[in-house]
Amino acid sequence: MVKDSILSYLRRHACHHIGLKAVLFDMDGVLFNSMHYHAQAWVTVMRSHGFDFTPEEAYMHEGRTGMSTINLIYRRQYGCDAPAGLVDSLYEEKCAVFASFPEPEPMPGALQLLQQLKAGGIQPVLVTGSGQHSLFRRLDHFFPGMFSRPYMVTAYDVKQGKPNPEPYLMGLTKADVQPWEAMVVENAPLGVQAGVAAGIFTVAVNTGPLPDKVLLESGADLLFSSMQDLCDRWQDLHQMFSSITIV
Ligand code: CA
Repeated sequence: MVKDSILSYLRRHACHHIGLKAVLFDMDGVLFNSMHYHAQAWVTVMRSHGFDFTPEEAYMHEGRTGMSTINLIYRRQYGCDAPAGLVDSLYEEKCAVFASFPEPEPMPGALQLLQQLKAGGIQPVLVTGSGQHSLFRRLDHFFPGMFSRPYMVTAYDVKQGKPNPEPYLMGLTKADVQPWEAMVVENAPLGVQAGVAAGIFTVAVNTGPLPDKVLLESGADLLFSSMQDLCDRWQDLHQMFSSITIV
């Protein structure tokens, strides 16, 4: 199954080999167990303003910029774009509700996986649509020495959020690698689409409530049940990348 996925990627992209130099990590739902707080914050704020919004929708829209999510929901309800002032204030409210929750815990297996990458000379890169102010402090605290500013793409860096490939293309540029020298780790359907659209081998970790098929239908090359699962099988996967070559 892993071998078939790698072969299929190589044929689709007409390349010979995945020579892994960097792994591009999404943050919420991948490095931190934070998505249930985001979903709760979205539902609370949107419903308090009279919008229909379910927790599942929060997971389906995960990865978009907050502004784009608000606009989509507004347009669905009222048939026109949301006034800019309203978009800003709703997003601020959502961030305030999120910040009132306890600090999210790191995802089990994430640090261990990062340590294996570093030990193998593979560069971890952060690619998130988040612009949370506490982001850098939190990364440093829970994943010391793993991410440095030159290897981070955040909401402040990109014009287009996921599912646009821009954030992942910028991640490649920051790591100075080609798409076939990288791998993406994502938990959200739109994030998977962004990684695939950037031409990168994209691994989904299903850490939320959506069925596996949503992530597979978004184009994920492989799917793992958790970050711990990916971490436990990392050496085998890395070995497969190294050994599979097509001519
Ligand atoms: Ca995510």
